Amino acid sequence: MNREPSILIIGAGFAGLGMALELQRHGLTNFSILEKAADLGGVWRENTYPGAACDVPSPLYSWSFEPKTDWPRRFSHQADIHEYMRGVAEKHGLPAKIEFGVEVTEAEFDEQSGIWRVRTSDGVTHIADILIPAVGQLSRPAMPNLPGIDSFTGAAFHSAEWDHSVDLTGKRVACIGTGASAIQYIPAIQPKVAQLTLFQRSAAWVLPKFDTEYSALHKAMFKHVPITRLAERFAIWGLFEVLALALTDIPAMKTPVVALADRHRRAQVPDPVLRDKLTPDYAAGCKRGLFSNEYLPALGQPNVQVETTAIEAVTPTGIRTADGVEHPVDVIIYGTGFKGTEFLAPMHIYGLNGRKLADEWSAEGARAYLGMSVPGFPNLFMMYGPNTNVGSGSIIYMLESQARYIRQVAEYLAARPGWFLAAKPEVEQDWDDWLQRRLKDTPWNFCSSWYRNASGRITNNWPGATALFRWKTSTFKPSDYDEERAAAR
Ligand code: NAP
Repeated sequence: MNREPSILIIGAGFAGLGMALELQRHGLTNFSILEKAADLGGVWRENTYPGAACDVPSPLYSWSFEPKTDWPRRFSHQADIHEYMRGVAEKHGLPAKIEFGVEVTEAEFDEQSGIWRVRTSDGVTHIADILIPAVGQLSRPAMPNLPGIDSFTGAAFHSAEWDHSVDLTGKRVACIGTGASAIQYIPAIQPKVAQLTLFQRSAAWVLPKFDTEYSALHKAMFKHVPITRLAERFAIWGLFEVLALALTDIPAMKTPVVALADRHRRAQVPDPVLRDKLTPDYAAGCKRGLFSNEYLPALGQPNVQVETTAIEAVTPTGIRTADGVEHPVDVIIYGTGFKGTEFLAPMHIYGLNGRKLADEWSAEGARAYLGMSVPGFPNLFMMYGPNTNVGSGSIIYMLESQARYIRQVAEYLAARPGWFLAAKPEVEQDWDDWLQRRLKDTPWNFCSSWYRNASGRITNNWPGATALFRWKTSTFKPSDYDEERAAAR
């Protein structure tokens, strides 16, 4: 007997859409997607700040089976990526499979019938054989815990919730944070503001960005001579794999990368005092390495001040630093990142015997076999789950590996209606032991970042090349899973 399992995907970003495309490409059409927003796109819908772009080149940061030959430039801007996602989704009829404006609040596995009951904020209960949360790691903005933060009387917003109604022209602007988002919007807003004060807690490691606008000739070649497009994709993939190996397996390869960053800083920041401030005091690779040709020069402009004294409080009129200095500003922009280690929050997920997923993870943090399956939570497969984020590479490549694996699970369950499976505890433990051994010597241990949770465990990053993850997830092995048949089916 073969009965297609019903599949519910949560989230219509690159993960959820990619999962749907993978299922559909293999003839599995009994799925639907729940999306809390009014549009698809995930982080590429949400992050509209000035200068928003991807720091992974588009030939690689795109679905392998949906190549685009006419990207305007190598490192695409947010609007072009969002348009690409929408175009591919529409081409494959996905919008009809997406229910927009519904937020999942709770999901509970019913052992008797072997199904997931998924409740949404509108009070509806959805059911499915397989539940695939694809909610990303970077969808919930994190605001800093600063005294007086609510007392500020000017405009204030997070980079992922950019308030486009605020005209920054001629304003005194405070920017907090020096991550991948900040280094994109700071050079974009610097020319128009009167004064920009960057509150820097840690300097960023900045590498040159080998960006280019694609000419008509490029586009014609990519379209008519596919090997040229594939060659570029392959070269970019190889370069990012080398950088990934420098972070994990072959630290000696970091030396030339560090030298490149040092040279970039020397060339772009002639003022030695400023350069000193902008020189990181932690190991390269610990936080995400950033690519920009505009960020460091923007910080050298006369209307910019880089403040490295810690913030003591936000006041009604600005920011006070620990040295007692008041910095009056009109606008505060929080480029303070996301709640990356709180996987699947704020959803409440209940598995076998009513076990709550957040409780399972409360001691150490999120963990899952292959980043996808948790013992005791049958037929639940996460996309972009624990330890699947890349320090270097394209997350879409990682998501395609996960989608292929989960599709194999769906095919397996199609031949076994009523059965459910979850990773064996000992298999998950072996997996985690292996991960921890590899993570132990990575640079991510030597500073704080969104890759680590409060207990110091690295919950987000994949320790290795993306090819290693592809290999580890290439074949679904039923023997890795506990299987049971639902009594009521
Ligand atoms: P982030 O990398 O987490 O950076 C947050 C920044 O805020 C850090 O500089 C942090 O300082 C600072 N910060 C936090 N609390 C602070 C406080 N109380 N006082 C002073 N500074 C404070 O966030 P993000 O820049 O939004 O980037 C997050 C991730 O999104 C990236 O790592 C990347 O994966 C993704 N992203 C990707 C792209 C892309 O092009 N593909 C673009 C944007 C974002 P410390 O470093 O000292 O903690």
